[in-house]
Amino acid sequence: MPSAAERTPTTRPVRRPPSPAPADPAVAGKALAVHARLCPVYGCPIPYFHSLDPVSELVSSLLSHRTRNAESGRAFKALRARFADWDSVIEAGLPEIEAAIAGVTWPELKAPRIRDVLRAVRERCGSLDLAFLARMDVEAARAWLQAIPGIGPKTSAAVLSFSTLRMPALPVDSHHHRVAQRLGLIGPRVDVGPSHAILRAQLPAEWSAQDLYDNHEILMLHGQQVCHHRRPACGRCVLVDLCPSAMQPTREP
Ligand code: SF4
Repeated sequence: MPSAAERTPTTRPVRRPPSPAPADPAVAGKALAVHARLCPVYGCPIPYFHSLDPVSELVSSLLSHRTRNAESGRAFKALRARFADWDSVIEAGLPEIEAAIAGVTWPELKAPRIRDVLRAVRERCGSLDLAFLARMDVEAARAWLQAIPGIGPKTSAAVLSFSTLRMPALPVDSHHHRVAQRLGLIGPRVDVGPSHAILRAQLPAEWSAQDLYDNHEILMLHGQQVCHHRRPACGRCVLVDLCPSAMQPTREP
């Protein structure tokens, strides 16, 4: 009998997102220059911060939306302590799930979303096991995940990149997005969701999972430590000569 990882999930075909337009060579060159400057600052290769199975990473990612890492981490541990496994979360009452994740932003929205997403995965796979995604290419795996209501580009990329799947996907969080916008890698009106495909297309197609993870982490860390939301510290930024927003600290975003 095939293992859960070898079984083909019972899923309807999913439509792949359209391929993004090829990156402007000048912008792609800047994206590479930014990567090369920030890597030594933040110490690439950066160790992975999680080694969760993909379903656990999915829950962790759903908890993390607009929530500090410490709080979403506590909520994740509380969920694990309260429920024997993720199947038990599907069967649980919403007040019980909501109580376990009370420390995150919008627990009343996240509790039903987590339960419904887990239920959809189980219905489409026959069990709560996403190991089969490792046999798909990244875009197909992302399309499969994003066909489930409640899973967007950031969550699908996080599941593939941060989990034990270690697939070459590029997540974009709010810090990464802000820094990319200020640097002119994406336009001022490009939202976080569409920015995933644009920023990925600027990086070499052959980059490994670690390369893309590093790219996400260094831009996120730069946003947290230097290119702050309100007062970017341009005076101590190693990207100042590459940045059209340099020395305009009050400029949004
Ligand atoms: S120069 Fe200023 S605005 Fe540009 S990336 Fe650096 S900190 Fe951010």
